Amino acid sequence: MIDPFGRHISYLRVSVTDRCDFRCVYCMAEDMTFLPKAEVLSLEELERLCGAFVRRGVKKLRLTGGEPLVRKNVMSLFRGLGRHLDSGALEELTLTTNGSQLAKYAKELAAIGVRRVNVSMDTLDPAKFRELTRWGDLDQVMRGLDAAQQAGLHIKINAVALRGVNDMEFDELIRFSHGRGMDLVLIEVMPMGEIGADARLDQYLPLSLARSEIAKHFTLSETDYHTGGPARYFKVEETGGRLGFITPLTHNFCESCNRVRLTCTGTLYMCLGQEDAADLRGPLRASESDDILDQAITAAIARKPKGHDFIIDRRHTGPAVPRHMSVTGG
Ligand code: SAM
Ligand code: SF4
Repeated sequence: MIDPFGRHISYLRVSVTDRCDFRCVYCMAEDMTFLPKAEVLSLEELERLCGAFVRRGVKKLRLTGGEPLVRKNVMSLFRGLGRHLDSGALEELTLTTNGSQLAKYAKELAAIGVRRVNVSMDTLDPAKFRELTRWGDLDQVMRGLDAAQQAGLHIKINAVALRGVNDMEFDELIRFSHGRGMDLVLIEVMPMGEIGADARLDQYLPLSLARSEIAKHFTLSETDYHTGGPARYFKVEETGGRLGFITPLTHNFCESCNRVRLTCTGTLYMCLGQEDAADLRGPLRASESDDILDQAITAAIARKPKGHDFIIDRRHTGPAVPRHMSVTGG
């Protein structure tokens, strides 16, 4: 699949549920209203949709959410999608998770063919972790990391950079992650969904600043390492580990975008930062054959926009798009 700007679309992210067992302050409001269950696609329907994308040339599938591992029976979806790995049609099946259920599922994920997992962890301080996630337990996530590593999964830690909250911990996060052989990626907070007046402005920390602070204590060498995502990676000479920066605000990376995002209701967003979307649930249910669905996918890819335009400053404190990150999946 090639979009109007000549970009090959080979990566699909699927939010399998908008629900979550955490309520991270930058991601959700405390009193989130979730989708009625009746609107959510069944796991079989999600599998069929993913299959249609794999047939069209998607090589990398990432399940996300909400929290993908809280969806009931989600392992049956992983198992179904794992068959595309076995056939060679799919190169990578992976997930982004808050880690709370990893202790339970790590072994099975590895057996299905998952090789890498992104675990979101913004702080190493249990009290701060509880405050940030509102409901999370750091110990439980740590047990998840142990189980994932025992199962042989390669872990990348994602941390959203939050001014005055975890910016004093970056050095510690680097030492911790690299000490355990895990990559660390810092992410700029994006203005998605209403989370309370001026909260974004308070949270936002440009990673250009974070990088110069980190460079006072560590030697960062440029690398050309890529995982197919937007992160720019550096090698930290002192630890030998990798540190990535995802900078949707300070450095736009849309020219190399290779992905589209599917929600659990079958809505396809061609860009994380734009409103335009295509309904695939109707075409999916219209016929048992995939012809109508294929046409809808082709039409959607032809509308993929050039890029996002996220801004957070004093004049732009509100969301760029009304939906929360948990709807489209990070
Ligand atoms: N629940 C899983 C998790 O937390 O990893 C998967 C879904 S979560 C929406 C995916 C990623 O998006 C997480 O790394 C999270 O920290 C990040 N995220 C959520 N809201 C964000 C925002 N407003 N700006 C930047 N990243 C955000
Ligand atoms: Fe849940 Fe992930 Fe959003 Fe946190 S970032 S509330 S864990 S979906």
